[in-house]
Amino acid sequence: MMMSDPIHFTGLRGVLKRDEPLAKHTTWRCGGKADVAYIPADRDDLAMFVRSLPAGESLTVIGLGSNLLVRDGGVRGAVVLMHNPGGVLAVSDGLVYAEAGVASPKVARFAAAHGCSEAEFLAGVPGTVGGALAMNAGCYGGETWEYVARVEVLLRGGDFAVRMPGEYSIGYRTVHRAGGAALDGVFTAAWFRFPQGDSTAARTRIRELLARRVATQPLNLPNAGSVFRNPPGDHAARLIESCRLKGYAIGNARVSEKHANFIVNPDGRARAADIEALIGHVRRVVVEKTGVALEAEVRIIGETEK
Ligand SMILES: Cc1cc2nc3c(=O)[nH]c(=O)nc-3n(C[C@H](O)[C@H](O)[C@H](O)COP(=O)(O)OP(=O)(O)OC[C@H]3O[C@@H](n4cnc5c(N)ncnc54)[C@H](O)[C@@H]3O)c2cc1C
Repeated sequence: MMMSDPIHFTGLRGVLKRDEPLAKHTTWRCGGKADVAYIPADRDDLAMFVRSLPAGESLTVIGLGSNLLVRDGGVRGAVVLMHNPGGVLAVSDGLVYAEAGVASPKVARFAAAHGCSEAEFLAGVPGTVGGALAMNAGCYGGETWEYVARVEVLLRGGDFAVRMPGEYSIGYRTVHRAGGAALDGVFTAAWFRFPQGDSTAARTRIRELLARRVATQPLNLPNAGSVFRNPPGDHAARLIESCRLKGYAIGNARVSEKHANFIVNPDGRARAADIEALIGHVRRVVVEKTGVALEAEVRIIGETEK
């Protein structure tokens, strides 16, 4: 069944866009179009959209696209754009409840305002809660799943399930189902358990962490954070820098001069193919010169341009 059949999309309350440029929805600001992109009105509307998809139709989830390279040929099937500036954020039974479309920095500030500690690290992760769950995002000693009490998932059939952390296998920037299967469904919400703390101290720490980022990361240029995972006991940035790759460019994509594990798209004109070629080049040079095979942390999706 093709996505062009309009009969599947009646009664929805969200915004449906055809041929939507995904460059608008990724922090690298490049990549092709989605056949169909859907911005759900809320979680029930998302469930209705998912139910309306033909069986077997591919479904791609994008949060703030801050860890994503979308290839220039775009994404076939349906894409759900989860970021929701109006998403629900609340405290209930001592837990912080956040819908998946809420931006992670907002959770950090909300938790600080409600006297929680240790959520500060989320202030520097410029994605959504759903993306932080899918990636087990972390920095400065904190990782998302350390604080997850439970999550809500929308399954492909359109039903919601509440799951406990024990139902997942969690690692450094990886999350699988317990037993090792790939993630299923769409994260729609999470309940976080943060320790009680002091609002002023948490706000101060957020400011310090953000200042550290501004000093060390090329935040003024389109990028997707760390391109490679840190190998055990080392830093990808150190290895890349030791190979003198800072500033190396392919097309309009360049290894950042400021942080070697970032690839930037300085004038917004890089093609995804430039970035992917540069990722491949960096990996080849680093393995040749240091023997370390770097693994990408960024997710690469979609089709190459024909
Ligand atoms: C300047 C900068 C700094 C960064 N610093 C850090 C850092 O310190 N630590 C860190 O860990 N990361 C960092 N990142 C990477 C990125 O912000 C995180 O991985 C973030 O959690 C991704 O969230 P997102 O909503 O943007 O996800 P996306 O990039 O949109 O998607 C990433 C993956 O998550 C999946 N996904 C997204 N939402 C859902 C959902 N609701 N349900 C199921 N799957 C979903 C997508 O399908 C995709 O596979 C940084 C990025 C930038 C640009």
